[in-house]
Amino acid sequence: MGFEKFGKEGYVSQTKITPMLSYLKKNQLPATVCQKCKRTWFPPRADCPNCKSNITEWTTIDGTCRLVTFTEVHFAPPQFQSDTPYFLGVAELKGGFRVFAPISGKISRDMLKPGRQMVLRPTTPTADHTYYLLEEL
Ligand SMILES: [Zn+2]
Repeated sequence: MGFEKFGKEGYVSQTKITPMLSYLKKNQLPATVCQKCKRTWFPPRADCPNCKSNITEWTTIDGTCRLVTFTEVHFAPPQFQSDTPYFLGVAELKGGFRVFAPISGKISRDMLKPGRQMVLRPTTPTADHTYYLLEEL
């Protein structure tokens, strides 16, 4: 593996969380489970923030979530500027994980309310970006 994905999927060519991309491409939400203290982390962590162990295993989590809050973005980083305006949300998944993610353009402003049930789904909108979106349940 070289640097063909530099600036697109990560800042270095190889990292301990590289498997995350393969899970997203399989339409799964990846998390890591610390093998020492048994805590689950989403987004995945190569090293456990709780006990500092680097012995983790990959798992997947359910994307069902509840919208906590959201904002409308008018000025974005260059790679997302053509998508503006769009919404970003904070949602809480089962297990208490909180995620900050774009909200699908299929959801209008008047449909967005804190507490709304949503689902976090991996998506591949272009060949250059792999990430996830908050969508209708
Ligand atoms: Zn741990």
